[in-house]
Amino acid sequence: MAELYDVAVLGAGPGGCTAALYAARAGLRAVVLEQLSAGGQMADAPLIENYPGFPEGVGGFELGQLMQQGAERAGAEFRLAQVTGVQLAGPVKRIETDSGPLEARTVVLATGAGPRTLGLAGEDTLRGRGVSYCAACDGMLYRGKTVAVVGGGNTAVGDALHLAKLAAKVYLVHRRGTLRAAPVYRQALDAAGVEIVWNAKPAALLRGADGRLTGLRVADTASGAARDIACDGVFAAIGRVPDTALFRGQVELDAAGYLLADETTRTSVPGVFAVGDARAKAVRQVVTATADGAAAVHFAQEYLTEQGGGPA
Ligand code: NAP
Repeated sequence: MAELYDVAVLGAGPGGCTAALYAARAGLRAVVLEQLSAGGQMADAPLIENYPGFPEGVGGFELGQLMQQGAERAGAEFRLAQVTGVQLAGPVKRIETDSGPLEARTVVLATGAGPRTLGLAGEDTLRGRGVSYCAACDGMLYRGKTVAVVGGGNTAVGDALHLAKLAAKVYLVHRRGTLRAAPVYRQALDAAGVEIVWNAKPAALLRGADGRLTGLRVADTASGAARDIACDGVFAAIGRVPDTALFRGQVELDAAGYLLADETTRTSVPGVFAVGDARAKAVRQVVTATADGAAAVHFAQEYLTEQGGGPA
């Protein structure tokens, strides 16, 4: 028979780790399932300067490890496992993983989000060979080289500014004629020497005989005219998509695939809670994810009390 937990947390980002910490401290039997390492998207950030309590900033990977250690110290169990399926309805929820099934009376969905891909031919195979979704992680590999950042939002602009400190030349390729990013960045881009390619839609990833990326073909959104931008790296910063495919059909999602839940983190399924970046919300930050984790356990406890009986 599968083991029964009070709380199963899917994902060990800041929301998941906080839920585990609060659950364990509440005397609940809690398990966190994570396929990679603690921290989630945060683990890719070299320095986090907007999480309170770290006046000098803190490495994202380090903060993830600290969050896991804190939850473990409180008694939560962490398992390295990939979730392959869930059955969320009913008083006992079942979770299938690549290392066997488990059951839980409540589930906290904390699977976060991942980068939106460009949708271009060969993108998958060029990942790590010229195509990147994380300037903070991979920027160093392009020191003295030429890179193109795709996107016009705050992330794309921040990435372009970060890369301008390392690369010899940075293009910012945006599909419209105005940035979505805060206007304050415009001057900074000019000062950093970033060349903006306006009204340009990525059309193809160009590659050389060795299989590595050699450039980005863009199409003018008005005329359709193609232009090839020779570059060593393409950084896609065109938004993120929530990792919620496993829950589709069981929990209500919004049109973009985010889990519908308000500040209580309660989803459409009793006993199932949504925290962090996978939840439909206005502000996606480490600090809002951790707040979600605390709220989820508060309402999970309320739910368990209503269901009757104490911890498993
Ligand atoms: P975003 O604001 O959604 O911007 C995505 C950008 O990518 C937009 O410019 C969009 O173009 C473009 N885009 C989307 N799909 C595309 C496609 N298929 N092909 C080409 N371009 C495409 O995403 P984000 O920049 O990652 O920011 C997410 C949230 O985090 C925002 O609320 C942002 O303000 C926040 N954030 C804040 C900071 C900060 O305060 N320093 C830093 C990073 C992120 P259109 O403009 O034409 O739609």
